[in-house]
Amino acid sequence: MQVILANPRGFCAGVVRAIEIVERAIDRYGAPVYVRHEIVHNRHVVDTLRAKGAVFVEELSDVPDGAMTVFSAHGVARTVEEEARARGLPVFDATCPLVTKVHLQGRRYAKAGRTLVMIGHEGHAEVVGTRGQVDAPVLLVSTEADVAALDLPDDAPVAYITQTTLSVDDTKGVIAALARRFVNLVGPDVSEICYATQNRQSAVRDLCKVADLLLVVGSENSSNSSRLRDLGADEGLPSYLVADGNAIDPAWFEGILRVGLTAGASAPDELVDSVIDALRKLGPVEVTQLDGVEESLEFGLPRELRGAPAKAASTKFATIGA
Ligand code: SF4
Repeated sequence: MQVILANPRGFCAGVVRAIEIVERAIDRYGAPVYVRHEIVHNRHVVDTLRAKGAVFVEELSDVPDGAMTVFSAHGVARTVEEEARARGLPVFDATCPLVTKVHLQGRRYAKAGRTLVMIGHEGHAEVVGTRGQVDAPVLLVSTEADVAALDLPDDAPVAYITQTTLSVDDTKGVIAALARRFVNLVGPDVSEICYATQNRQSAVRDLCKVADLLLVVGSENSSNSSRLRDLGADEGLPSYLVADGNAIDPAWFEGILRVGLTAGASAPDELVDSVIDALRKLGPVEVTQLDGVEESLEFGLPRELRGAPAKAASTKFATIGA
C-alpha cells in the first residue's frame, strides 16, 4: 500500500501559539491553569495538556477566584472578557490573531452602519465568540438557502464575515448567493481569511487526484478537519475522519492501493504517525509526501510568556515527517 501525505497538513500557527501559551503558563505560574473551552478542538491535545496541569472548563464561573486563566484559540465574546476583568482574573488570551482579525472586520462594518452577516455554523465556539465581539446584531447563515431566508430588504447595506475554518468552496457559494441577493454588499476575499485553512484544503484537493481513499486525522468537533473529509467525499473518494490509528477499520482498505493521509489544523503529527503504524499492521506500506506550499508564519506569544521555552514545551507535538 502506498500512503501519500498531504502537504501542508496538521498544526497551523494559531494552534501552535495556543498550545504554547498553556504550556508556558503552567511552567511559569504553576498548575493548575484554567482553560476556558478546549484550547483547540483535539482530544489528544486536550488530554496531554490536562496531564500537565491544565483544567478545562466551559464557563468562567467554574474558574476559582484568582486562578490563572487562558481563553481558547476560538476567541470569546466581550461579556466573557468583561466577566474576567470584573473578577480580576489573570488571563492569557490564546485567540488566534486571524480570528481577532475577523472580530475587527465585523466591528468596522457594523460601525459603518452595515447589517452584518456571518457565514458559519451555529454553536461553534468561534461563531459564538465573534458574534459576541460586535456591538450589533450578527445574522448567521450556513447555506445558500439561509441567504434566501434572510429577512432584509435587497437594497440593505450588508457586510459579511466568515468563520475561519469553513471550506473555501462552500463559503464562495454562500458569498455568491449574498452577492446575487444584495446589491450593496462588502466583505473580505475568502482566500485572505486563513492561510492554513486555504493551504490544507488545496493540498487535499491535490491529494485526491492521486489517492483512492482519504484519511483525515482530527477530532469530530474540529470544523476544519470535518471540512477536509467533506472535500474528499466531494471529490468522490471514500473519506474518513479518524482520531488516531485505533480508529482504522481494515475493511476500508480492501482493494485500495493508494491512501491519501492528511491532518486538520488542530491534530498533532504524532497522531498521523499512529495512523501510519496502524496501516503497517495491514501490510507493507510505502510513505511519500506531495510537494506543497511551505508555511513559515508564526504568531508571537504574550510578552509575559516570551523568552526561554517551557520545560516541557511543544516537543510532544513536534512536527515529524515533513
Ligand atoms: S485554522 Fe487559521 S484561524 Fe484557526 S487557529 Fe489556525 S491559523 Fe488561526
